[in-house]
Amino acid sequence: MSFSAVIVAAGSGTRAGGSKQWRLLGGKPVARWSLEALLAAGAQEVVVVIAEGQAAAAAAAFSGLSGWRTVQGGADRAASSQAGLAALSGDDFLPVLVHDAARPLLAPDHVRRLLEALDGADGAILALPVADSLRRGVGGRISGAVDRDGLWRAQTPQAFRLGRLRAAFAAQAQDQGATDEAEVVTRDGGVVRLVEGDPRLMKLTYPEDFAMAEALIAGQTRPLQTRVGQGFDAHRWGPGGSVWLCGVEIAHDQTLIGHSDADAGLHALTDAVLGAMGDGDIGDHFPPTDPKWKGAASDQFLVHAVERLAARGGRLVNVDVTLICERPKVKPHRQAMRERLAEILHLPLDAVSVKATTMEKMGFTGREEGLAASAIATIELPA
Ligand code: MG
Repeated sequence: MSFSAVIVAAGSGTRAGGSKQWRLLGGKPVARWSLEALLAAGAQEVVVVIAEGQAAAAAAAFSGLSGWRTVQGGADRAASSQAGLAALSGDDFLPVLVHDAARPLLAPDHVRRLLEALDGADGAILALPVADSLRRGVGGRISGAVDRDGLWRAQTPQAFRLGRLRAAFAAQAQDQGATDEAEVVTRDGGVVRLVEGDPRLMKLTYPEDFAMAEALIAGQTRPLQTRVGQGFDAHRWGPGGSVWLCGVEIAHDQTLIGHSDADAGLHALTDAVLGAMGDGDIGDHFPPTDPKWKGAASDQFLVHAVERLAARGGRLVNVDVTLICERPKVKPHRQAMRERLAEILHLPLDAVSVKATTMEKMGFTGREEGLAASAIATIELPA
């Protein structure tokens, strides 16, 4: 579902000791956590509301990200929220999420659940039922009990249709002191649903909250395991005018025979990546009996293997391919092959190696019956 978002990052954060939204948490500025999560969840537009003079801090905190812009906030939370809403470009029916920058541990799943709950309601917010007993205190002494039944702790994001939220703000009298958007909409007669929140969406209020959030982040980051995979492939020479090797077409007086384009270099490398993951081999994923793969460009096999790696939270570290043949001479094409592999794999050039050797006229490659390729791939995978 298409949606936009406002991140309110205009607070002075005096209780947490300064501008907490730009402080580093787990190596990233606090506000960047929320922006990255909203963009990852599919936000089409994100407006970040900042305090006067904070544009440079925001630009530094969000460098490298796109799909966001800043506007200057107002005197209080309500004014800042309205400034953000005014800057959004969507129509009245566009869902909009309003989120506190001080709640950095937002996840795409939170966004999905809110958007689902918005269907048929004027708003939906994440909230947690109060678990502790509540006491009213005066002068350090209990003066009475408060029934916690039916009490919830409101979190953010809070989701509304853009037009409905703007109308509720417009209808509210000055100085009503609403502390969040849900209160503005409910005062305007709107129905706001409670969606089960998440303790991880804690608000960074006091300096010690940072230590707790750091611990939560460290706890969710699983250590990476380094693994190595190996692959081998061979194809037979046959009549033709060019050959594909490591994603590069080379003019030659023969071609390699195979169901796909017979790029043995890419096939060996695909098996190396799959092997490192313990994820079968190229034949399991692309059966040669399937006519779909007849004459197929082999780079898609390698891309598929790397996508499976990414889906498991892993990444490729480096690859090394050896081509074994008497002819064609590989050396003049090595650089082009490395560059093509680096492009397919999104790796720096120095993490991609292509080597070649002959078999001194021995064996099937020496007799020029076929060409062989061997490859290894190093990966990192969550343990
Ligand atoms: Mg093959």
